[in-house]
Amino acid sequence: MKGIKLGGILLLFLLFSELINAQGRGTAITGVNLWNTDGSFTPNRTILVEKGLIKDIFETGSKGLNDTVKKIDLQGHYLIPGLIDTHVHMGMGNRALPRTPDTARMEFKRWVYNGVTSVRDMGGDARLLAYENRLIQRNEIPGPEIYFCATFGGDDMMDKDMRMKIITQGVKMKNAGWAQRATPEMDIEQSVAMARGSLVSGIKFYAGVDADLIKEITKEAHEQGLKSWSHLTVFPDRPIKIIEAGVDVVTHVWGAFWQDKDVDPTVRIPFTHTSFENARAAIYPQDLSKLNVDSPELKMLLDAMVEHNVIWDINYSIKNPKMYDLYKAYALAASKAGVTLSTGTDYYNDITEPYPTVFREIEQLVGDGILSPAKAIEAATLNGAKAIGIEETHGSVEKGKVANLVVLRKNPLEDIMAIREIEFTMKNGHIFYRKDYAQIQKTKQPEH
Ligand SMILES: [Zn+2]
Repeated sequence: MKGIKLGGILLLFLLFSELINAQGRGTAITGVNLWNTDGSFTPNRTILVEKGLIKDIFETGSKGLNDTVKKIDLQGHYLIPGLIDTHVHMGMGNRALPRTPDTARMEFKRWVYNGVTSVRDMGGDARLLAYENRLIQRNEIPGPEIYFCATFGGDDMMDKDMRMKIITQGVKMKNAGWAQRATPEMDIEQSVAMARGSLVSGIKFYAGVDADLIKEITKEAHEQGLKSWSHLTVFPDRPIKIIEAGVDVVTHVWGAFWQDKDVDPTVRIPFTHTSFENARAAIYPQDLSKLNVDSPELKMLLDAMVEHNVIWDINYSIKNPKMYDLYKAYALAASKAGVTLSTGTDYYNDITEPYPTVFREIEQLVGDGILSPAKAIEAATLNGAKAIGIEETHGSVEKGKVANLVVLRKNPLEDIMAIREIEFTMKNGHIFYRKDYAQIQKTKQPEH
């Protein structure tokens, strides 16, 4: 009897240790060219991944690997950190954007199979984003990590903007921590705490908030561990006041237009988004021919961005041919001044396209001579992580960091188009082979 009991215990013990081993079993990528944060590759590296983290990095063959470790030989391949899109929109109701979980999930899938491991959502519904992010983190649906914001705007915006109505549907706006009215009468500490309670990573300032108030809210946000994100021009102040208010990230090229002495940000069509069609008229100065990219005012703004360590989520590759030359001139001036850029897109292409829009953003920044291939990869990885505030754990391939990475078949430093040559994405240690995504697309989209 005793013998049977002992045998049973031994069997249980063996079973459990087998389970523990299986769980602890890591993955080793061997022989790969590894991206360094200085923008070069080190050949012949092994990256050992365990439980979603990068456990070790060493020269292939210089250390032994346990038999239980799954080995993937990737000689001749190039490994870069997972890509980050610092400007996406989910569930805001615009026809051009993913409106429902169904359409959003197609984009989540396209992102993660194409190397995008984290995204920063702007102005979305925190309830929806938190729910989708939970499913993604549990590996119930494929997708990137989603970070999102609380939208803060002035009276005009909160009363009239159709987007604010959509993202707070079903609750009273004053109870929605993720969409708040920013006025001098507000209780800043409580507002920031409510934002935190809705699981956001930062506060995003949109329109109609004075720079002095942005400064106070930013200070409190930082104290409570949140980032401060803003449109580069929030109106009525000029953009330099937003930089001086201490925000961490600013968004859009057009914000810089309003630093020009010949345009006045206090005189404009109110930025209320009563329809998406009227939005453009509100964000661009009426007479664009007045803008001077060589002005001392713009130089002062760009220098201030460098001095304050602000990241510019520049949204360069928008599809507006009329604005193209202007955008290019401003982006070139920014890169010349040494401003840190991140790759936010703010638009979606057709879901049947094989690659999401962040590829066009990266390729166009390189193609137009704004960033070198190395700087563009940095913009799409480490700078994106800094913009979100996760650079301690993301944005580079280093021991102890989260195993979010992309394996390429060609060297992106020789030709940036190599970022499309994806073998697989690893997110939290979980592998998504690009060829599997192609198959999904093919069955969904019969050839014609
Ligand atoms: Zn946007």
